[in-house]
Amino acid sequence: MKYGKVLCILCMILSVLTALSGCGSEEAAGPKGKSYFSYFDTVSYVYSYAGDSAESFDELSAEASAILGEYHRLFDIYHEYAGMNNLCTLNKNAGGEALPVDEKLIDFLLYTKELYTLTGGEVNVMLGAVLRPWHECREAASADPASACIPDDAVLLAAAEHTDISLLEIDREHGTVRIADPEASIDVGAVGKGYAAEMAARKLEAMGAESYVLNVGGNIRIIGTRPDGTGWVTGIKDPQSPDSFAVKLDIADTSCVTSGVYERYFTAEGVRYHHIIDKDTLYPAEYYSSLTVLCADSGLADALTTALFCMPIGEGRALVRALDGVQALWIYPDGSMEYTDGIEK
Ligand code: ADP
Ligand code: MG
Repeated sequence: MKYGKVLCILCMILSVLTALSGCGSEEAAGPKGKSYFSYFDTVSYVYSYAGDSAESFDELSAEASAILGEYHRLFDIYHEYAGMNNLCTLNKNAGGEALPVDEKLIDFLLYTKELYTLTGGEVNVMLGAVLRPWHECREAASADPASACIPDDAVLLAAAEHTDISLLEIDREHGTVRIADPEASIDVGAVGKGYAAEMAARKLEAMGAESYVLNVGGNIRIIGTRPDGTGWVTGIKDPQSPDSFAVKLDIADTSCVTSGVYERYFTAEGVRYHHIIDKDTLYPAEYYSSLTVLCADSGLADALTTALFCMPIGEGRALVRALDGVQALWIYPDGSMEYTDGIEK
């Protein structure tokens, strides 16, 4: 494991422990059950505040791990796994035949098309061809910071020709998926973790979980309230110094997802380039430094953080208003903030 990754995981553990603190003493208010797993290139946690038995907690957290693990394998664009066609297989096979895939992947991909429409194309899982050169530059910069550079505009413009959402052909009846252009590729980084967290949470709810918190790489999905009916205090990182919090929110029975410029970035010639790419410029979106969305469905929350990141405030507010039960917090590069009425309360 790379040093950076270890550091990142340690920071995350620290921020999660501090972020989900209670109002009373940490000892009394802390989780009764706690486990963690490594999926989606990050750390996921299951916490129980319910005081349920160790057997019950073990069963529920094993179920959460199994579900997150399954989506991790289905959504992986870098590795294939025996006995399944996943997103890596679909990308390798782009331009070729339709491939049979798990029904769960079909459901998810159909949902990503809905999200595309809902967000006016700001969240596009077929942006892979554009995201790849940015990803390669980030990796190269991490290996050799001194010679960091950014993709050529010509490369980005050419890649953008292969990002049409209709290139993703989903045949629900036959259970197959095809990417219709050999230059196109899928990348579900903007939605995958939140969707997987949502699927795991729904299963846990069906199994009777209450007062549980799932944290999938910072995508928080809460099941219920604390046993005494109160919520959890979660800190939204200050983008300018991510070791401290810009805001603290009291949340229950919802999901809370933040995307920030400090999460994944590299520096080339003194300029920082983060990981959320605006389809209109093909460069990192410049409106905000952090975006938080609260809503019941953590898949939607994840998609919306990325979408709102790429929209001017007026458009973003209009989108949030048009949706039921969605709250958002925008933090600008100068540190100032805007939020919806529900967050104000
Ligand atoms: P994370 O929580 O991992 O930081 P985000 O939800 O902020 O992820 O989404 C960022 C990831 O989504 C990027 O790493 C990239 O894989 C992908 N991505 C970036 N921009 C877009 C976009 N405009 N549409 C779809 N996917 C995107
Ligand atoms: Mg997102």
